[in-house]
Amino acid sequence: MCAKKLDGKACAAEVETNLLSRIQSLQEKGIEPHLAVIIVGNDPASHVYVNSKIATCKRLGIRSTHIELASDSSEDELKSKVKQLNDDDSVHGILIQSPLPSHMDEEGITDLISAAKDVDGFHPTNLGRLVQGRLDGMIPCTPHGVLRMLEWAGIELKGKKAVVIGRSRIVGMPLSLLFAARGVDATVTIAHSRTNDLPQVCREADVLVAAVGIPEMVEPLWVKPGAVVVDVGINRVEDESRERGWRLAGDVSKEVQTVASWLSPVPGGVGPMTIAMLMENTVRSAEIIAMNT
Ligand code: NAD
Repeated sequence: MCAKKLDGKACAAEVETNLLSRIQSLQEKGIEPHLAVIIVGNDPASHVYVNSKIATCKRLGIRSTHIELASDSSEDELKSKVKQLNDDDSVHGILIQSPLPSHMDEEGITDLISAAKDVDGFHPTNLGRLVQGRLDGMIPCTPHGVLRMLEWAGIELKGKKAVVIGRSRIVGMPLSLLFAARGVDATVTIAHSRTNDLPQVCREADVLVAAVGIPEMVEPLWVKPGAVVVDVGINRVEDESRERGWRLAGDVSKEVQTVASWLSPVPGGVGPMTIAMLMENTVRSAEIIAMNT
């Protein structure tokens, strides 16, 4: 078997095209969707992510404000920036790029973002809505991107066994809640670092999602023939054959394509979908704020 490609790049391009008319309608009402991104410190990968978010905003006509704080900034400085952006009526979305330096309490700071402007979907109000089975809040971008890409490819989740490896606040846990939500209707197993016999748990999956951060961990023998496999992982691995000395690898071995029916590539799978969902959340936030003013 040779798995079909779950082409997140193509799906993201469609999402972006659909957003253009919504952005234009807002602009006709004098509203410019506006995303503010705060980055603290010099983590090179974080700067790459922020730059690609800002470039996508520019391409779509979404205004972006890029705020950089030094890695030794105080938590109070960051909190006062968040407060300023909460109070700024021109701002519709606020994103704090993860990770924050270790002296900062990331979750405590996320709690301060106005839930209506929480385009990352990590505020307890938005995650709480997911727990309630409500999909009307800001849904975290990576899980939302995974679900949208599966729907776009016509992959049915209803009644299927889904295994999500990883239980993080950013990916694994909200994705598991989304998969189990009424209307999506998968039967979900959440696997993690303490799971016994992970390969066997994975082999039971009709849909297997890897969100771990260990390069190429999922091997062909872990995958039921014909299963759908989504690779969320983004890992830098050394590669001396490349001029830059490294390459990107997912959490799933490329060999899995010999067993799976569908496989998302890295790069070009979940990554572009994450950014597309961020843009959609920003536009949606601008629409909701416009409706209520
Ligand atoms: P995290 O470190 O917060 O969580 C990792 C999870 O994997 C944990 O729940 C842990 O229990 C589990 N885990 C760790 N070791 C394990 C093992 N040996 N067996 C089974 N489970 C294990 O990471 P995260 O933020 O959820 O990100 C996971 C991966 O997804 C990373 O590679 C990250 O770079 C990537 N990511 C990609 C996107 C994207 O847009 N494509 C977005 C967010 C994260």
